[in-house]
Amino acid sequence: MKRLIQISLILLFCASAFATEIEGMRVWTGPEHTRAVFDLSDQTDYKLFELDNPPRVVIDLDDSKLTSSLTIKNNKDIKKVRFSTDKNRVRIVLDLQDDLKSKSFLLKPTGEYGHRLVVDLRSEHKPHVKTVAEVTRPNRDVIVAIDAGHGGEDPGAIGPSGTHEKNIVLNIAKQLAKKINAQKGMQALVIRTGDYYLKHRKRFEKARQNGADLFVSIHADAFHSAKVNGASVYVLNQRGASSEAAKWLAASENKSDQIGGVVIEDKKDVLSQVLYDLSQNAALEESHKAAKAVQASLKQVVKLHGKGFGQANFLVLKSPDVPSMLVETGYISNPGDEKKLQDPKHVDKLTRQIAQGIRNYFYQSPPPNTWIAAQASSVKNNKHVVQVGDTLSEIATRNGITMAELKSINNKSSNRLLVGEVLYLPN
Ligand SMILES: [Zn+2]
Repeated sequence: MKRLIQISLILLFCASAFATEIEGMRVWTGPEHTRAVFDLSDQTDYKLFELDNPPRVVIDLDDSKLTSSLTIKNNKDIKKVRFSTDKNRVRIVLDLQDDLKSKSFLLKPTGEYGHRLVVDLRSEHKPHVKTVAEVTRPNRDVIVAIDAGHGGEDPGAIGPSGTHEKNIVLNIAKQLAKKINAQKGMQALVIRTGDYYLKHRKRFEKARQNGADLFVSIHADAFHSAKVNGASVYVLNQRGASSEAAKWLAASENKSDQIGGVVIEDKKDVLSQVLYDLSQNAALEESHKAAKAVQASLKQVVKLHGKGFGQANFLVLKSPDVPSMLVETGYISNPGDEKKLQDPKHVDKLTRQIAQGIRNYFYQSPPPNTWIAAQASSVKNNKHVVQVGDTLSEIATRNGITMAELKSINNKSSNRLLVGEVLYLPN
């Protein structure tokens, strides 16, 4: 009998020594889903099931113990978290606000994270997607998708004073959206609206579903040297990178999906690959034009990193048919840039120049059926490409109109001109 107690004590000790520890929980909520992430000390077996009345999700983890208490408040999807321990099994119950579908998976260590159990909750209801008729109605606005990189589980780069890239770029994206919406004929579509992660594919799919004419991904990444600073604009190049810096950036960016918590699905579909290559050639040409226009506009008032233009194999720019660019608004690893990117005055200047560059691109290359295209065709081919030394007042006088009229035709708010900018003139 004594021996038996000894053995069972040893077993109990072993079991607890090898038990997987549930070290904590994080919750990220987006408009379409809520993600609960449990940090684990090791991989473990678990069972998950959904129950009704009241709606709840139950997760049983074998050979586990809880080393921190789990709580949640003010969440639109999860009402309460409860847990209980029975021998070596931990049961976690998520009480839900509504009937939600769950999906769960384990993730291996990546970045700063160790083993994780991810539980995604989403309602069956689908968000409104614009129909073809809505997108092709005449005189429509051009739609600019603005995507703040990272989010939720993925903080992006972290600055010397602890600033997270995901927060900096969300603010910049929202400011840029305001400036886009202030322009006649242009409408912004903000892809990530809060602190949650969206996989790369989902980002450009949302842009496509809403008929976006341009996709702009906003970042402020880190570099291995704290000295490197300045903004730059990137486009996709599937064959390689234009510089070591571009290659390095793309490699660190592309890791986001793993850190953000995405299971890699390896689907090879030859036909879709062919269609993808065909349509992407056209989109790439437009991407170059748009990125060059933004680079030229930024150059006027913002310090660029080198020439401020590069190419690399960024996954988030792989939309088959929407021209796409990635704007590195600065390097968060540089203390000066880290500070500037949080300064409202600098953000105002930065977003004004990006919006202006985007506007210039659409006036040079207006998508059909848009208000901007209508402006272009109503003045037919009567336009002027700005040369070095041109001024607005001189162009207005030459064409027998006032400067205010010239600005109104071109929907311009400032008197500044860019070399290569297209100005429409009256017939
Ligand atoms: Zn980034």
